[in-house]
This record gives sequence, C-alpha cells and structure tokens, in this order.
Amino acid sequence: MKRYSAFAIAKEALGYHVGWERAWGNPEPKPEYEVVIVGAGGHGLATAYYLAKNHGITNVVVLEKGWLGGGNTGRNTTIIRSNYLQDPSAEIFELSRRLYEDLSQKLNFNIMFSPRGVLMLAQTEHELRAWERTAHANRLFGIESEMVTPERIKRIVPIINIEGPRYPVLGGLWQARGGTARHDAVAWGYARAASDLGVDIIQQCEVTGIDRDEHGVTGVRTSRGAIRCKKLCIVVAGHSGVLADMAGFRLPVESVPLQALVSEPIKPCIDCVVMANTVHGYMSQSDKGELVIGGGADGYNAYTQRGSFQHVEETVRALTETFPMISRLRMLRQWGGIVDMTGDRSPIISKTPVPGIFINCGWGTGGFKAIPGSGWAMAGLVAKGEDPVAGPFSLDRFTEGRMIDESVAAAVAH
Ligand SMILES: Cc1cc2nc3c(=O)[nH]c(=O)nc-3n(C[C@H](O)[C@H](O)[C@H](O)COP(=O)(O)OP(=O)(O)OC[C@H]3O[C@@H](n4cnc5c(N)ncnc54)[C@H](O)[C@@H]3O)c2cc1C
Repeated sequence: MKRYSAFAIAKEALGYHVGWERAWGNPEPKPEYEVVIVGAGGHGLATAYYLAKNHGITNVVVLEKGWLGGGNTGRNTTIIRSNYLQDPSAEIFELSRRLYEDLSQKLNFNIMFSPRGVLMLAQTEHELRAWERTAHANRLFGIESEMVTPERIKRIVPIINIEGPRYPVLGGLWQARGGTARHDAVAWGYARAASDLGVDIIQQCEVTGIDRDEHGVTGVRTSRGAIRCKKLCIVVAGHSGVLADMAGFRLPVESVPLQALVSEPIKPCIDCVVMANTVHGYMSQSDKGELVIGGGADGYNAYTQRGSFQHVEETVRALTETFPMISRLRMLRQWGGIVDMTGDRSPIISKTPVPGIFINCGWGTGGFKAIPGSGWAMAGLVAKGEDPVAGPFSLDRFTEGRMIDESVAAAVAH
C-alpha cells in the first residue's frame, strides 16, 4: 500500500490526486477463514491487526453489520488515561496508553493522539480519599499520576470555578500523559493497516447465527451467506449478549445507553480533559472548538443508540456550577451508544464455554482508551491460547469470585 507522507501528498498534488488507493479493500466473503472476527469497532479491528502483525495470522475476516467504526468507537468522547486502581486494569490501560503514543507512526495514519492531560476532580472528602488511594496504587505500579491542589487546578483549567457552593473543588487526580485521540481515525487506521497485511474487512454483513458441533465452533451464518471458521471472536460491545445467545451461552453483561453531546464551536478555552464524577459530568474541547460533554450511563437497559433531552439537561446542569461559562452555550449535537457493563466494571477478554469462540466485551463506558492494548491481548489469546495481560479478565472470574473492582475508577469516568 502506498505510504502516506509529505512526499506522497506533493507527488499526488502534481497529478490531481488520482493516484491514491482505497484505504482498505472491499472483498467478497470467502467460504472459509482461520479466524472470523464479528464487529469492526476499534477492538475488533485492533485484534485483526495484531493477529496479522504480531502473530503472522492473516487468514482473518472482520464482519461488520453496519459501517466500520459506526458503533461505540465512532460515538465516544475519546478520553485516554490509565490511572485505574487495580493492577490488571492498570496493566492493560497503561499498555494501551503507551501504544497510543506512537500509533500514528506505526499505522502510518494520523490518529491525532493528543496527550493534553486528564484531570479527575475530587469534590467530596470521600472522593479525595479515593483519588489519593488511586494515586498511591498508580505510583506502586509505575504509572505517572499525581494529586493536585485546588490552586494548581485553577492554573491548569482557568475557566473552572473551584468555590462551588455545593461541590467545591477539594483537589484532583492529574494524569499529564492522558488525553484524547480522533476516534474515527483509530478505527480507520487499524482497518487500513490490517487490510494491508491481508485481512478482509466486510461491511454491511450481519452475523445472524453461529454454527457449532460437538467439538466447538464451525462457522457463522451471515446476511451474505455462511462462512466456516476454526476460531471466532465476538467483539460487538453492546450486542455481546445477542451473539452469546446465538452461540448458546450467557454473559454477565448488561446493555445500557450512554449519551454525549457537543456545544457550538468556540475559541480554545480548555486544553485538557476534566471529569467531575461527583456531579456526573466531564468535558474537553475538540480541535474544531466544540465542548465535548458527557455524563453517566442511562438508568435502564436498551438497544437504542439515541440521545434524550433529559440527559442533556441533567449533565449540563451538573457541570454549570463548576464551569459557569457553559450556561451561555448552545448545543450543536447529541447522540448515544450502547455500552456493555459488567458487575465489577472491568472487561472480559476470554475463552468461552464453546471451544474456538473467544469474547472481548464489557468495556462499558471506557473502552476507547483500551483499543490498542485490548487488541494486542486478544490477539495473543486467540493465537496462543493464553495471554498474560488478558489472563485476569477471563470469564471464570465471575464464578471464582476474582472480581477486578473498578466501580470507583469507572463511575462516570470514561
Ligand atoms: C457516548 C459514549 C462516550 C464514551 N466515552 C468514552 C471515553 O471518553 N473514553 C473511553 O475510553 N471510552 C468511551 N466510551 C466507550 C467506548 O466507546 C467503547 O468501550 C468502545 O468504543 C467499544 O469498542 P468496540 O470495538 O468493542 O465496540 P463498537 O465500536 O461498538 O463495535 C462493535 C461493532 O459490532 C457491530 N456488530 C454488532 N452486532 C453485529 C452482528 N450481529 N454482526 C456484525 N456486526 C455486528 C456493531 O455494528 C459495531 O460496529 C464511550 C462510549 C459512548 C457510547
């Protein structure tokens, strides 16, 4: 595939840009593959890429019922950080954050990674103690994060009101190397690089059934015909329960809508990500100038990828005490995605009761930041049957009681 570079742009400019290739192929499905991956979100595409790149397994297809990156990957608010409490989480999220740092170079695709810093406010005494505990745990694990005072917070985010009458800012957990990336570009970059290594990516191809015999999985039925396979990866976020049902097992996962919104674009006014978990809201500013705002997940199970006015009102009301200037902004757009929540708020990267079927789900409200690390670990698990990073996130933790409790780190925090 032709590399993207300043030289290539200059050369194409002279030739009226007619020489660019398609970023990824559009093949017809073959009757059989070694590995079928269901779901062309970031996690499915990263799994395909690392299967090819790290393990030389290229007889792989990624099947997507809609369009590539059209699920949660293209709907999220792009916060990247690794300051989680428990060691297994810190390991996978830090692996991910590190991989993000030079992902643009590795994929030869500008994913616009912006390590602008992530600040998690403490607005109650309880929260202050919780973040102090997390900061100590991070330091023990070798992750750079630190507690900052209200005065330092005011210097980092001048538009903040630290003296709110109900919830004054008492401190914060600051991860300077956290930040954001461009969500579509992450999906597109992995798709282009995986396709270049020989992976087939097939959009508008819904998996409608899973075939198995007494030895395990044998293939999938799709809206474009049956496909046989030796291994099947289910990587469909909010639809994990639907696919597990097709395969004949159940998952400890609930599907819940999660919404976000952006304001009209304004001049640069906030150059980091701020999360206010007590009031349930968070905010950053996109490169286009919109304030990107999100809050907590909806309080009911559903499959509707929609926003609602109650949510906008609730989230913006929660944030205006801390950021009074947002009360004067108009809203530009709102939307929703369906997130897959586990009881301990940690993901599942695991073999399943059906031999040959692997599952990657349960990322809930916070899986964008994990895409590179999750793909890396999932590829290791699928290729070799085990992976040190994926190990703790196996399904049997729910029967053995080995929960990885991230309910504090993952509350509203994305
Ligand atoms: C509003 C919102 C804000 C968020 N903010 C953040 C954030 O700031 N930071 C963060 O880290 N995370 C965030 N998240 C979470 C993050 O977006 C997800 O955890 C992550 O994108 C999940 O990626 P995925 O590849 O697993 O799933 P998806 O991107 O949802 O991909 C799954 C794909 O599977 C496809 N599919 C489903 N069923 C089938 C089928 N039967 N056949 C074929 N294809 C199928 C879907 O069409 C979809 O494209 C947010 C999520 C939302 C909704």
